[in-house]
Amino acid sequence: MSDSKKIMKVYLDNAATTPLREEVKEYMIEAINGPYGNPSSTHQFGRTSKGILEGARKYIAESLNCSPMEIVFTAGGTEADNTALNCAVRDLGVTRIITSPLEHHAVLHTAEAVGSCFDVKVELVNLLDKGEIDYNHLESLLKDGEPTLVTLMHANNEVGNFLDLKRVGDMCKTYSAYFHTDTVQTMGHHVLDLQELNIDFLAASAHKFYGPKGVGFMYVNSGLKQAPFINGGSQERGKRGGTENLLGIAGMHKALQLSIESMEEENNRIVALKEYFIGRLKNEMEGVYFNGLSADLDRSLCTVLSVSLPSLPSGGMHLFSLDMNGIAASGGSACSSGSSKGSHVISAIDPENTDPIVRFSIGKNNTQEELDYVMDVLKELQAQQAVTL
Ligand code: PLP
Repeated sequence: MSDSKKIMKVYLDNAATTPLREEVKEYMIEAINGPYGNPSSTHQFGRTSKGILEGARKYIAESLNCSPMEIVFTAGGTEADNTALNCAVRDLGVTRIITSPLEHHAVLHTAEAVGSCFDVKVELVNLLDKGEIDYNHLESLLKDGEPTLVTLMHANNEVGNFLDLKRVGDMCKTYSAYFHTDTVQTMGHHVLDLQELNIDFLAASAHKFYGPKGVGFMYVNSGLKQAPFINGGSQERGKRGGTENLLGIAGMHKALQLSIESMEEENNRIVALKEYFIGRLKNEMEGVYFNGLSADLDRSLCTVLSVSLPSLPSGGMHLFSLDMNGIAASGGSACSSGSSKGSHVISAIDPENTDPIVRFSIGKNNTQEELDYVMDVLKELQAQQAVTL
């Protein structure tokens, strides 16, 4: 930006993490001064803490229409994904994992690790144009009847593509396969009814719905026999050893409640911002195009917009320039933007794409004024690049 122009701080990396909601922060500050007993202790201090824990479990279960017994607290989405994949192989006799090249590394790297430790093969489902899962290919893979876990995410964190959870769950049921879904990007942003969906395992993380980091949960269908992945005490009904993160779980409970209560209103606001942003990018940035289904408002997360911007400087300089102008966004996912490798998601959808990419992820605190500022910066970078060419 020119020297006279004020630099605005704009956070557009909400798919990497969301800021703690103000009310959650206040609630957690109160909670830190509150009960400190170990929830597993049987005395009154322990019982008070247990009440907080079970209140959170009950709320989460009600919001998903499942039983509290089916909710297991974890240290976040990665642990939940690891637990599901490892336990499916170890406890349920799965000999094949079917996944997609678009999954988060919490799933892909776990599938690879499980595959190399156990006698398990990992198969990737084909993708259609724009990274949509080829459901016919998935069905053809499942038809052979091999004991299988299908793990496919509800919505992709880099390009926003939605999965048809109902369709995949029904297909898994038909062919007696287990179904795990990573709902880290959708929990608290979309309604899920587990009585309607044939899901066996689900992973969620509080810091993606304006809650604290390092805490999450998994759903494990009560019909499944699952031994602990983390061994220790008999916490979480023997499904996960270790004293629970009471403060984090209290914060997650509050965050989920507030996200669910304001879901419709916040999603409507974010969709409108996304639509506005797409319109301006299309009109004002030369050669712009959108990755995956991210510009399709019905088939992608409203929070994620992955944009290829050929008119910006290449080699990662565009992200640096955005950062210098106060704008926080990612190249692909946050996990890959810090490494020298490009995004595995973009490579799988569009291997020829070498253009500068920005994943803007919009949250409840963003405003149109901020997007206007981003457009000013992008246009200035575009103009500078045109001069250097
Ligand atoms: N799954 C997806 C889709 C994610 O976006 C992330 C975080 O970026 C994770 C899993 C990992 O979750 P956590 O950070 O809670 O371990």
